[in-house]
Amino acid sequence: MRRAAFQLKKPGMSQPEVLATVSALRQRIRQWRAAGGTVAIVPTMGALHAGHIALVKLARARCERVVVSIFVNPTQFGPTEDFARYPRSLEADLAAIASVGADAVFHPGEAEMYPPGFATTVTLGGPAAAGLEDKFRPTHFQGVATIVAKLLLQASPDAAVFGEKDFQQLAVIRQMVRDLDIPVDIVGAPTLREADGLALSSRNVYLDERQRKFAAHLNQSMQWAARRVRDGEDRLEAVREAAASICGAGFVIDYLELRDARTLAPALPGQAPGELRLLAAARMGRTRLIDNIAVDG
Ligand code: AMP
Repeated sequence: MRRAAFQLKKPGMSQPEVLATVSALRQRIRQWRAAGGTVAIVPTMGALHAGHIALVKLARARCERVVVSIFVNPTQFGPTEDFARYPRSLEADLAAIASVGADAVFHPGEAEMYPPGFATTVTLGGPAAAGLEDKFRPTHFQGVATIVAKLLLQASPDAAVFGEKDFQQLAVIRQMVRDLDIPVDIVGAPTLREADGLALSSRNVYLDERQRKFAAHLNQSMQWAARRVRDGEDRLEAVREAAASICGAGFVIDYLELRDARTLAPALPGQAPGELRLLAAARMGRTRLIDNIAVDG
């Protein structure tokens, strides 16, 4: 059964309108546009934290109307990944979104996004084949790009806000939008972190108390390596020693690499620190964390 658009109301709190179908989303956005408003979208998989909320605030600063999408996209998870146990917390998400005053939440069911017979995906090159996330999650970006392309076509927003936390994803989306002439401004937002440097992530809830304590070593060691690169020390050694320290904290590293921040190609020996990004993925128990930082940040 198709759910219609409905309005959740709570006393003292203006809940965003929740839209469950593409036609309801399009209708609402048409109304906003008829009234002269510009529109931003913030795509998410829910389980919202302060990092997501910062994206919504940025969207609000850019456009008069903001829609947040919440959809745990099955096609971006590999067969052995955490799709089934990915945290889902719609009520709390709506309350968090209400607190920053987004106008609507697009929360489609799976059949709305992938109806029976769905058969099209976006094929990617360039940054999607950089040998980082794609090496460990071979079908991930195809799933991400397909769902983002759909969301951009469904909402036809002026702007779409994505976090630098998923740095390769941001590069993949910029490339897709450029190559397919999708008329939208892609806005990148800085990564929000806990006080000890751990990047906020919906997956941090998987960490037990002890793992959470050690998880901060990932970012701390990356900061240390970046500082050494900035100071002109031997780059290979800086990265190697940071990797050793990350492993010492209990991580198994998928990658820790210095890359060209624009193309994500491997860093060239003479490249200025300002052109470089340090990117990592590492597993603590069953939890896989990613992070990245500017080398001259
Ligand atoms: P997700 O729900 O994990 O797919 O993330 C939705 C959006 O939030 C993506 O654009 C992410 O890059 C962004 N995001 C996730 N974590 C953070 C963070 N700690 N700071 C800023 N943005 C983030």
